[in-house]
Amino acid sequence: MTEDLDQLRELARTFVAKEMTPNQERWAEQKQVDRALWTKAGEVGLLCLSIPEEYGGGGGTFAHEAVVIEEQARGGDSSWGNSVHSGIVAPYLLAYGTEEQKLRWLPKLAGGEFVGAIAMSEPGAGSDLQGIRTKAVRDGDEYVVSGSKTFITNGSQADLVVVVAKTDPERGAAGISLVVVETSTPGFRRGRVLDKVGMKGQDTAELFFDDVRVPAGNLLGGVEGQGFVQLMNQLPQERLIIAVASIAGIEAAVDMTLEYVKDRTAFGRELIKFQNTRFTLAECATEAAVTRSFVDDCVNRHLAGELDIPTAAMAKWWSTERLCRVVDECVQLFGGYGYMTEYPIARAWADARVQKIYGGTNEIMKEIIARSL
Ligand SMILES: Cc1cc2nc3c(=O)[nH]c(=O)nc-3n(C[C@H](O)[C@H](O)[C@H](O)COP(=O)(O)OP(=O)(O)OC[C@H]3O[C@@H](n4cnc5c(N)ncnc54)[C@H](O)[C@@H]3O)c2cc1C
Repeated sequence: MTEDLDQLRELARTFVAKEMTPNQERWAEQKQVDRALWTKAGEVGLLCLSIPEEYGGGGGTFAHEAVVIEEQARGGDSSWGNSVHSGIVAPYLLAYGTEEQKLRWLPKLAGGEFVGAIAMSEPGAGSDLQGIRTKAVRDGDEYVVSGSKTFITNGSQADLVVVVAKTDPERGAAGISLVVVETSTPGFRRGRVLDKVGMKGQDTAELFFDDVRVPAGNLLGGVEGQGFVQLMNQLPQERLIIAVASIAGIEAAVDMTLEYVKDRTAFGRELIKFQNTRFTLAECATEAAVTRSFVDDCVNRHLAGELDIPTAAMAKWWSTERLCRVVDECVQLFGGYGYMTEYPIARAWADARVQKIYGGTNEIMKEIIARSL
């Protein structure tokens, strides 16, 4: 941490407490955050923090993104898809966009005028990305994008979608490219916002591309067939984001449970006085400390440009498994109240489950780790 990061943490904490925590129930009902949240976040300077100032961003590093992700998780919000917007979509544009593309899109993302999404998964292909069927066929100065995507975070609010598509279906991974689609383009349609077990306020939607024509210049990186390599290069950050949110979620769960068991009584004494409660929390606090240490080390490695793909997979697998275990133990200590959605621990429990599934399932993480051994 630095003074600059401490100040950012303060700003993010205040923003979460004021603009996000009080809206949880309403966002869950409407299955998305208010669109205005994005512009408010842009105005106070919480979007695209690792993007250079010349493109409207915060001019910081991944450490700045991590601080905001942690504060959002600590504040118990799982609705706002900023880690996809600022932590994934903007870095793709920065890493692979042409100068013209960066100047066109990044300032809008940084100000909250545009919301970003990334669309890899399809109804028939998630883990097996090579099995995607969405196509981007070159036709003169344009690409014609056709196909459908599902489970897309920020799907119903997105103004810009980085679409994983096949520019050459015969060539497997070498035929995959990333194409940017602005959602105002004719032929783009959104499906319903999906009903989820947890993360109820997060806008997760289906997207349809009915012969959407985009300028050939919307191909990210400018050369066809680079998509798979581009994805592989960016996925460690996506996985680290999940790990950062997970450790913050673990710490928040332990803190709120400690507070509860000191207050609640049974058999004439506080729950904390039972050995089972103390042993359970001793285990959870230790798991939090071990995970914190590993995740922080991964963040430092990433800042130094040294986080490799297997280590990022380890961080994602480890932290999400710990999150689910710790939150489940904490729910048990809350008794029946732990199952009531008005209690943050209950929402944390339902929100935790998907962390083992998205960003590459934990089975895929283990495949990646195993291959490196
Ligand atoms: C809330 C939410 C938000 C999401 N946001 C996005 C988003 O913004 N953009 C996006 O593109 N996607 C998003 N996803 C999709 C997510 O990344 C996929 O669901 C995930 O990658 C798994 O793909 P799948 O659902 O098709 O499962 P499948 O790939 O069908 O996997 C099913 C099961 O088979 C296992 N399996 C598959 N292959 C192997 C293997 N080789 N070895 C061992 N086991 C294997 C998996 O681990 C899993 O247990 C989101 C999903 C959710 C639920």
